[in-house]
Formats: sequence, structure tokens, C-alpha cells
Amino acid sequence: MPRVSVVGAGVVGLTCAVRLAEAGTDVDVLARDMPLETTSAVAGGLWLPYRADPPHDVVRWARATFTTLREHAGDERTGVRLLPGRLLHRRSTPEPYWAPALRDIVPLRAVDAPAAGYALGWQADVPLVHTPTYLTYLTHRLRAAGGTLTRLALPALPGQGTVVNCTGLAARALADDAAVTPARGQVALLTDPGLAEWLVDDGRDPGSRPPHGGLTYVLPRGKDVVVGGTDEDGAWSTSVDSEQGLQVLARARALVPALAEARLLGHRVGLRPVRPSVRLELRSRVGEDGRDQHTVHCYGHGGAGWTLAWGCADDVLALVRQLSP
Ligand SMILES: Cc1cc2nc3c(=O)[nH]c(=O)nc-3n(C[C@H](O)[C@H](O)[C@H](O)COP(=O)(O)OP(=O)(O)OC[C@H]3O[C@@H](n4cnc5c(N)ncnc54)[C@H](O)[C@@H]3O)c2cc1C
Repeated sequence: MPRVSVVGAGVVGLTCAVRLAEAGTDVDVLARDMPLETTSAVAGGLWLPYRADPPHDVVRWARATFTTLREHAGDERTGVRLLPGRLLHRRSTPEPYWAPALRDIVPLRAVDAPAAGYALGWQADVPLVHTPTYLTYLTHRLRAAGGTLTRLALPALPGQGTVVNCTGLAARALADDAAVTPARGQVALLTDPGLAEWLVDDGRDPGSRPPHGGLTYVLPRGKDVVVGGTDEDGAWSTSVDSEQGLQVLARARALVPALAEARLLGHRVGLRPVRPSVRLELRSRVGEDGRDQHTVHCYGHGGAGWTLAWGCADDVLALVRQLSP
């Protein structure tokens, strides 16, 4: 296989780089932001398809990712736990379209009595990732497989060789793709009082829909609890909004009263790279050196980069394998 430059060191870029390097490819990761500085590090890290398309591929990628993350669960170096939890709906809702991703892995069960105020709930044991720990783990795996990671803010995608473009929202400029847009998310981090389950309230009741849209969620990761959140289409600010912070905390504490005793560790903001569908495709042209230049685009994972990364990395590897050295 050819030498590959992976641009981007979020969960998508690092996962693709590890897949490629462990398959015997020489891999160099180039990134403006190091792993712990990315949107991926801000994320809650729950396996749950959210704001990603198309459904058929999402189910396939999510199933593959679930299988890999489950293998990592319990290994302290990874920060992955397989945790029971509930997705709560305020009104009757059909089974989520992604339920088939769980079949053959774990059952998605309807909860008999979800809780006061909720019409329906779904329950499953799914992977929950302490995202900074997992990004560090991926970085170690990349280096162990001979890959490199270099801080470099590229003005454009490399014009020669084989490139995997995992730049998330920045693909808007780097790949000249106006279809990828930001959906701003603000979360708070708290100490974990020992919560035994994750909870997501889909907020789809017009009367109680949280301001700035989005879900209310409580994700206990052992080292901390991520509570959220907001979901603002088209908002570019990465500054913490203190008013939103108070609202996020109030909603989370209403959902899980035990959080009243948890200490606030801080607030974080990230911009989800939302796109009508994830772009995962190979484009070839004549490069700056007159030889074939290949770019595998892999971006636009919306609110589901952690849920889809390993499945997407499998497809990226398959595309790179088609290329001659
Ligand atoms: C608040 C919040 C909560 C979330 N919770 C979850 C969750 O629970 N589960 C889930 O599955 N998903 C969740 N997500 C979504 C998830 O975080 C994203 O889908 C994911 O981070 C996208 O990963 P990425 O690697 O494509 O992009 P990023 O993490 O943004 O990484 C992009 C990389 O490209 C690099 N780059 C950009 N421009 C350049 C350049 N010019 N030169 C070189 N490098 C460049 C960046 O520096 C960075 O390294 C959440 C997102 C937010 C904001």
C-alpha cells in the first residue's frame, strides 16, 4: 500500500491512521490541533447515532464501532466502559432507525415505566468512552505501529501522494465543501458521584424543548460526568456561554438529582461537523508532481464521530488498499 498522509487528529483521523498503520501502511498524521485539543476531546463519548447520515451506512459503521469498543471495555488504558443506560422520550416514538446496529450485539429493550413525564424509553448497554483517555490510547497505538503525529496547520490538502482527509468541520474550507456546517455544543464536566447508568432525554416535547435545541444527557465516565447539552446550527463561537452553562446544569440536575452533590469541573464547547451525509469517498486526479494523487475524504460525522469511527476506518482502509503503491 502507498505511504499515506492523514490530515486531522480527532477521533476519525486517529482511528483511520491506526487502522492503516496496523495494516502495514506508512502513516503520517498532520494536524493543526493535537488530539486533546479537538472537538473529539470535548465530546461525551457515548455510542449513540446522532445527527449523522445516511441511515444504512450509519447502522453499518455504528455496529462495527460498537464491536471494537466493546472489546476495549474494561481495559483501563482505553477509558471505555460498557454501561447500561436509558434513552427517554417525552412522547411516543418509533424504535430508533439505528436499532439494527445493536441486534446481534445487545438487545435494545423498551423500558416498561420510563419515569414520570416520559411516554417511552429504550434501554441498552452501550460503550461510553472517556474521550481524552481514548485519544491518548489511539496516539500510543499509532506510534507503536510506526505512525507519526505532527502539529501542522495546512493551508490546503497536500497536492500529491495519498491523503486521507479527516478534518471535520475544517473540510468546509480545505475541501471547498459548504455542505459541512457547525452545530455548536456546550457541555459541563462534573465529578462522578458513582452513577450507575447513562441517561439521554431527547427533549422532543415542544413545551419543554431546551433552549438552543438538543438533548439533555448525563454521561458518567468514572473520572468525570459529562452533562449536556446544546445544539445550535450555524453557531461558530467556541467560547463558553455562562447563561447556557447554568441551564445545562439545571436540566441535568433535574434529570439526575444525585448530581446535586457533584463538583463542577468546568464547561467545554465543541462544533459538531454536521453534513447531510458523511462524506466517505475516494477522489483521484493528477497531482502537482504529475503523478496520480488520491484523496480519501472522511468527514461530516455530526454528533456521532465516536459512534462511527471504527466502521468508517474499515472503509477507508478498503479504499486505500485498492490503490497501487
Ligand atoms: C458537545 C459535543 C458532544 C458530543 N458527544 C458525542 C457523543 O457522545 N458521541 C459521539 O459519537 N459523538 C459526539 N459528538 C460528535 C463528535 O465529537 C464529532 O463527530 C467528532 O469529534 C468528529 O471527529 P473528527 O475527527 O472528524 O473531527 P475533529 O475532532 O474536529 O478533528 C479534526 C482534526 O482536523 C484538524 N485540522 C483542521 N484543519 C486543519 C488544517 N488546516 N491543517 C491540519 N489539520 C487540520 C484539526 O486540528 C483536528 O485535529 C459530540 C460533539 C460535541 C460538540
